[in-house]
Order: sequence, then structure tokens, then C-alpha cells
Amino acid sequence: MSKVLETRLEIDLKALESNFNLLKSYLSPKTKMMGVVKAFAYGTDSVIIGKHLVEVGAEHLAVAYIEEGVRLRKAGVDVPILVFYPQLEEIENLIDYRLTPSVYTHHFLEGLCQELAHHHVDALSVHLKINTGLNRLGFEVSELDSVLKHLNSEPKLKVAGVFSHLAASGNKNEIEFTKTQISKFEEARGYFKANLTYAFESHICNSSGILNYPEAEYDMVRAGIALYGYGNNPTEHKMLKAVASLKTVIAQLRTIQKGDSVGYERKFKAENTTKIATLPLGYADGISRIFGNGKARVLINGTKAPIVGNVCMDTLMVDVTGIDCEEGDEVEVFGKNNTVIDFDIEHQTIPYEVITRISQRVTRVLV
Ligand SMILES: *Cc1c(COP(=O)(O)O)cnc(C)c1O
Repeated sequence: MSKVLETRLEIDLKALESNFNLLKSYLSPKTKMMGVVKAFAYGTDSVIIGKHLVEVGAEHLAVAYIEEGVRLRKAGVDVPILVFYPQLEEIENLIDYRLTPSVYTHHFLEGLCQELAHHHVDALSVHLKINTGLNRLGFEVSELDSVLKHLNSEPKLKVAGVFSHLAASGNKNEIEFTKTQISKFEEARGYFKANLTYAFESHICNSSGILNYPEAEYDMVRAGIALYGYGNNPTEHKMLKAVASLKTVIAQLRTIQKGDSVGYERKFKAENTTKIATLPLGYADGISRIFGNGKARVLINGTKAPIVGNVCMDTLMVDVTGIDCEEGDEVEVFGKNNTVIDFDIEHQTIPYEVITRISQRVTRVLV
């Protein structure tokens, strides 16, 4: 498949390292770091990012699906890789590639036990996931007796970790709720401490957990979004650095007159003489149509230019009236200078969504 070479997602490993070190500074030196590289490392490149995270000191990595873990193993990544959503159909790969499943249902736990009976492996490490209030995935604290029974019936299964996930660790209005989650987790963890004959690692904090609840760091933390340069408020954003910058160039410039329209459905109508730049990227590249009609701005030669009219599949148009620019000039859609937070319009989206949506059609380049 041919790629649109003008549009590229630049990946800055220095920024990644700086974010990694900043997060480490919140933690006790012995707390381990699990770098979350699911969804192409939040839209960048999981192999490049995963390898670099290991190089700078991440002891673990995490992905969403088994296939994402296999890809890292094939690229030579050797640290433990936690798989958040393993599927029973792919257990072969899980075992062959020494991936660590997150186990959160009896259905999966039983399937895993059955499968292990046929395999010549001595042991398989798992991390048990506990539901403490997100109500997405995880065993209830009340189910732990039966979980333990299963574990005792399959000696090949080794609990390497017990973890949970916070629902609102970045929300200052939910501190009480978050504390209930932490104490429920404490209960589950205590249960396994009392009933397993060996040690395991506990973890509950995601990025905002690290920034807001360092007292709940336990043995390990799972950092995603902050490693890529985004926090929950302006202060955090200032400390972090964008790893990914989406760049493109001006494909064409034109001047239109009062009353002329731009794009499909004629959504933009010029009120005055207006200079329009067309950029070679659109919703097929991951720039949602919600950013059309002035809802987001891109950076051209130091000035922010609003998107005008509807975003098209392969192109979008911006108003560059008063901006000194030429065809071929570089445009930063988001990244280092024009942070993705400018896209966070009316709470319709979040940085996570904006950066993970950049499609595989866009070339990734290391800078
Ligand atoms: C994605 C994910 C993380 C990382 O969260 P961030 O907010 O990006 O730091 C951690 N834990 C689990 C279970 C996740 O699914």
C-alpha cells in the first residue's frame, strides 16, 4: 500500500525518556514500571516505543491483545509482557511467546487450566485482575475463594501479579471513590498474601494514579498516556513532552472572495476575502470530522489556523488569512508546539482518542 509521504507522525524518543524519568521521580526507586504499549503504543509504534522503554528501564510492558504481544516478542523484546484482554482462541500464542495473561473471569481461568494440561510448560505466570469499582473487567472480592481453588488445582499456574484499575484517578472530584477502590484492592491483595505460598507483585496505578496517588504505587505502576506526553491538567501537560507530532505540508493555497464556500456541503462561507490552505490529511488518517468547522486549529509558521468546513476523507482545509505561508510549508497538526489539547473541544474527545486514532496510512518516522 502506498503511503502519504507528506503526512507523517514523528516519534521523539528523547521526549519519551524524559516523561519516563519524570514519572519515576514520583515513585520510590524500587517501584517497577510497566510501560503500556497497547494500540500501537497509543498510535505511535509499539516496537520502537516498547524497545526504548526497556532500554531506559521499564521492567515490564503491557498490551491489550495477544497479537500485540507476539509482535513485540518477534521484534526481540524479552521482558514480561502483560496482556490485558487475552482471548481463549489464542492461547497457543500466549504460551509459545511467553506472554502473561490478565485473568479476570472463571471462564478464562478454566480454559487456561485445560489448555495447560496439554502443554509441556513448567509454569505460566498470570496476573489476576480484581474489579474494585470500574465495573469493566475483574473478579469480585467475593469470588476470591473460588479463584484460589482453581489456582490450587493447577500447579503450573503461577500468580505473578494481582492488580486493579482505577476509574477516575485524574478526577479531583472523585478522590473519595478512588480511595474506596484502593482499599478494596488492599483487601484482595491481602487475601492472596495470606493464601499463596509465594510472593507476587501488586499494581493499581495508571498514569494519573502515579501523579495523584503515589501512595498507592505498590510494587509496580502501569504508565500509558503520560509516557506519551499527556496529563490531566495544564500543570501536568507542562511537565510532560509530546512523543508524537503529526506533521503535514500545505498542498495548495487559494484566495476566495466573500460568499465563496469551502468543502462538502458548502459548510464554510467566506465573510471576507479569505486565504485557504488545503492539507493532505483527512478522516481516513484519523482526523475526526468533529474537528471540522473551526473546532480545532493547526500550527503553520508559528500561527494557529482553524480548520474550516467539513473534514474530507483525505484532505482538510484551514483558514490561513494573514499567515505568511507557501505551498509546501510544514504544518504541525498536533505535537510538541500545537498540543493535542487544542483538539479537546467541548469534552467531545480526549487526548487518548486523538492520538490513538491516527491511522496506519500515516508514515511513522523517528526523529
Ligand atoms: C490502558 C491501561 C493503562 C494505562 O492507562 P493510562 O491512563 O494511559 O496511563 C493501565 N492499565 C490498564 C488496565 C489499561 O487498560
